[in-house]
Amino acid sequence: MIARNIAWVLGLVSGVGILFAEEKPRNPALVEVTSENVPGVVLEVRYGTERNITGKKIYSDGRAWLRQETIAKLARVSRELREKGYRLVLWDAWRPRYAQQALWAAKPDGRFLTPPTKVSRHTRGSSVDVSLADKDGKILEMPSDHDDFSKKADEDFSDVSKEVAKRARILRRAMFAAGFSGVPDEWWHYDLRDWADYQALE
Ligand SMILES: [Zn+2]
Repeated sequence: MIARNIAWVLGLVSGVGILFAEEKPRNPALVEVTSENVPGVVLEVRYGTERNITGKKIYSDGRAWLRQETIAKLARVSRELREKGYRLVLWDAWRPRYAQQALWAAKPDGRFLTPPTKVSRHTRGSSVDVSLADKDGKILEMPSDHDDFSKKADEDFSDVSKEVAKRARILRRAMFAAGFSGVPDEWWHYDLRDWADYQALE
């Protein structure tokens, strides 16, 4: 437990050092997500705020970064959702290693998070955490909040209202149709189907 706490503090300290030294990731494979390359996207990057499981700001700002391949597929999702009267909300995208460590320290549970000994799919720039807004950008109620690790987070939507379940299915269908795969325990998490072919991006 003590070792874990020390690791967490070190992770946060080194994270803050990286954050304020440079705001833009240096890796050329990472492209910023904007309303130009993902039309209509609502950026609500939770780790750039205190509204996350650590209760602390992990990123220096609310910008999001992904591989170009991931952005191209998200643009497709965005177009499909717009036809149905919705907009895509982005909760998280590329996640640097220090952020994964901070999250793991707050919730060291391998069912929901990748331990620091392994490479998170988010660190590869091939995964996203997404939700839905209405056509005006108003955030909509979904099965659970981001990083809610209760039963409501799983893909069995029988424990939420019909309206909410319908929205979660619309999002799921749009993501699958664009070439993403999902995970059973987190309705908001999606990966490029070939995520394992991508390396971690530091
Ligand atoms: Zn995720």
